[in-house]
Amino acid sequence: MKSYRIATFGCQMNVHDSDRMHEVMQGAGFSEVEAEEGADVIILNTCSVREKAEQKLRSELGKLRQGKAGHPGRVLVVAGCVAQQEGEKLLSRGLGVDLVIGPDNIRELPLLLHDLASGGLPTVRTVFDLDAPQFLTSYGAPSAPSPSERPSAVSTFVTTMKGCNERCTFCIVPTTRGPERYRPSDEILAEVRGLAERGTREVTLLGQTVNSYTDPLGCMEKPSGADPDESEFAALLRAVSKEAPSLRLRYTSPHPRHLTPSLIAAHAELPGLCRHVHLPVQSGSDRVLKRMLRRYTRAEFEARVAALKAAMKSQDGTPGVTLSTDIIVGFPGETDEDFEQTLSLIEAVGFVGVFAFKYSERPFTPALKLKNDVSEEEKSRRLARLFALSEGLTAKHLSTLVGSELEVLIEGRAKKPQAGAEATFSGRSFRNEIVHLQDDRGEQLVGEVVRVRVERSFKHSVLASLTPEAVAQAGRSAPKERGARRLPMLSAAD
Ligand code: SF4
Repeated sequence: MKSYRIATFGCQMNVHDSDRMHEVMQGAGFSEVEAEEGADVIILNTCSVREKAEQKLRSELGKLRQGKAGHPGRVLVVAGCVAQQEGEKLLSRGLGVDLVIGPDNIRELPLLLHDLASGGLPTVRTVFDLDAPQFLTSYGAPSAPSPSERPSAVSTFVTTMKGCNERCTFCIVPTTRGPERYRPSDEILAEVRGLAERGTREVTLLGQTVNSYTDPLGCMEKPSGADPDESEFAALLRAVSKEAPSLRLRYTSPHPRHLTPSLIAAHAELPGLCRHVHLPVQSGSDRVLKRMLRRYTRAEFEARVAALKAAMKSQDGTPGVTLSTDIIVGFPGETDEDFEQTLSLIEAVGFVGVFAFKYSERPFTPALKLKNDVSEEEKSRRLARLFALSEGLTAKHLSTLVGSELEVLIEGRAKKPQAGAEATFSGRSFRNEIVHLQDDRGEQLVGEVVRVRVERSFKHSVLASLTPEAVAQAGRSAPKERGARRLPMLSAAD
């Protein structure tokens, strides 16, 4: 049996696409290997959102090209956004690449590998499926094991749309992922239902601008309010909650302009919808937001966030909803004053998580016409100040949780114990706080929502123990079997 290995770079879209590649490859009879050395096929699922990610790919390709000499017949595949962006160029640069495959062509992977094995020439296949969009699911891979044969994941992604129509001036995604295409609601509901039946406890609805959703079947209702940015996403959330009421529900990444009254109402209404939103704002300065073509002002962003917070107000004084965001520092023309406004917005909103990056020029983006005039040193200085502020806000928020009780979905064994405390399991609260748990009750906790009391807080997480009621409950539960699981990560870019 031929073996393969996939290395994934970038955002949740790529994590999800890599999952689908695993299914397609295994469905075609390939077996996954951990180590690169033993792989007949190496697939690099690439990211081009930032220059740094692309540099990483170049150095990875350099190493793999050298390694290829000792492995005659090994096939090197470049997939994902750099594949879509660079196409033929990846074959012509002498990098040893055999196959370049775009995000919309994953299903064709086994066939293209077969052609290569039969003596075919290195190939590029990067065609958008504009006429008949395909959404690979765990049920859709040809010859993949049937759902009942595969282990369930505690938490998983479900694609609702792909591509982006926004054209933010810094972003290459509209080029690499194409225009927006929406998945029919019946497919989404069927996948969600299947996942719930197999034991999945949490689903993250996934899309580049997930909350611009419009059902191609016309089965979802668009609210009749005056807001021009209303979409059918709130109706989709309600339908998913109805279809699988046992599931905890998240979504990523929303565009702030589609955080509309109907979506805010859905948050207040749906008990399974998590009380956390990752809402990429990118800058706190109107001048910069305009140059980025983000299509909202700071005041509009703040008003939408205030409406969400008001709708989600908790009774006990703790935040009813938490927010995290993405920021770009050093966008062309960003002055000290603009940057100060970004800091003040972070503080005003009280983001408990900030993913921030230095602006880097991306091919095919409108921002290339602007002068990249903030020095690298200044970008680094701004980034350091921003992280100091955001880490302080995160730590402060987590410290307020000590002594309180939280409901936590236990997702798996803790990767690394916290200093001074041997945590055994970890999971996340409804507000997306990372919770480590000291408990030796074994695998039976995984996939359960348990009530815990927070004992200590750290920089990015808290340590907790089961409440006496949860201990009694755990004692009554039978041990269960569960397979591989993967946790959704927060967005690095919307
Ligand atoms: S930043 Fe997000 S919304 Fe803007 S173009 Fe890129 S993917 Fe689309």
